Amino acid sequence: MNYYSTLVTNLIDELRRLPGIGSKSAQRLAFHIINMPEEHVEHLAEVLVKARKEIRYCKCCCTLTDSELCPICASPKRDHSTIMVVEHTKDLAAYEKTGQYEGVYHVLQGTLVPSLGKGPQDIRFKELEARLDDPDVKELILATGSSLDGEATAMYITKKVKPRGIKITRIASGVPIGGELEYIDEVTLSRALEGRIEL
Ligand code: ZN
Repeated sequence: MNYYSTLVTNLIDELRRLPGIGSKSAQRLAFHIINMPEEHVEHLAEVLVKARKEIRYCKCCCTLTDSELCPICASPKRDHSTIMVVEHTKDLAAYEKTGQYEGVYHVLQGTLVPSLGKGPQDIRFKELEARLDDPDVKELILATGSSLDGEATAMYITKKVKPRGIKITRIASGVPIGGELEYIDEVTLSRALEGRIEL
């Protein structure tokens, strides 16, 4: 039986497709939106459409950005000879919050997932290799997660990049096994970065 009008049901159904939103949250959000002033809803819709249309991958580090080069890659104040490899844009944000890191990043937009046959062609590895052709790159910091897939990715990159003679380091443990970077506090992240070990 349908208790709601079709439009209310449609709204709840769309919201429920979002990650982490169950039926109850979807209903709560739907009624919140319905009761919002019309101009706020219009603004929200505009922001969603604009974000989807204009956000793209930085042509250098592959993070999500709204210009050709992200602000970090475009900054002359950053140390472009040190590249930290992370899985996602949210991991980059976690390291940026520490305020301790002055290098640049490379965002793989995922990891290898050997169990699902997800290989190097499914992440932004080719783009990373292209950046390493620049002789000014001195160090690659592997900051993929400590999950099996994160470790497999770090091992793969090490194997591929080592022959180039670039210094490769791995962030220290202290980042809990399977821990998601975005949930780890800034002090732990700073320590993990400081205590990185050469591979
Ligand atoms: Zn960038």
